Amino acid sequence: MYCGHCAPCTVGINIADVNKYLNLSAAQGEIPETVADHYKLFAYHAGECIECGKCEKNCPFDVKIIDRMRKAKELFGY
Ligand code: SF4
Repeated sequence: MYCGHCAPCTVGINIADVNKYLNLSAAQGEIPETVADHYKLFAYHAGECIECGKCEKNCPFDVKIIDRMRKAKELFGY
């Protein structure tokens, strides 16, 4: 899920790393402080996804990336 086949995102979201931080937080049952700090440093956040679907077309593993971006926005707040 961190392979990067989905890139480049239309608006510049680092999809692979957003997914990684989402998974790390889910595994811990909370957002670790370091993860929150790293997420904050992204130039573009999951909440900026315009749901164009380009990344999903690029993904050979059928990852529901738009759903993942929605979940990340919900979890991190932006
Ligand atoms: S659907 Fe969202 S995450 Fe995927 S390329 Fe478009 S803007 Fe980027």
